Amino acid sequence: MAIAIWHGTRHELARLREAVAEHCECLGGMFGLPPTRCSAHDMLAHQASLDHLLYVYRMRKLFIRRELYAMPTRATAVRRTARPT
Ligand SMILES: [Zn+2]
Repeated sequence: MAIAIWHGTRHELARLREAVAEHCECLGGMFGLPPTRCSAHDMLAHQASLDHLLYVYRMRKLFIRRELYAMPTRATAVRRTARPT
């Protein structure tokens, strides 16, 4: 099993752990079935997913600012000419 490394801060890791705990659907081996690990916990083993999560977490303020407070673009005048029919 590959080891994934968290490249963020302790605070960011704590937030990730809270989010995974909120969305955890692991089953603990009830009724004679083997225990299963949920997709949220599976994600923690994928390095690319962790790196992407950290990137999006850090860039989200910029994305939101650009989306919500974007300066209106000046409409460019388009000259329309009627086409002869
Ligand atoms: Zn889980």
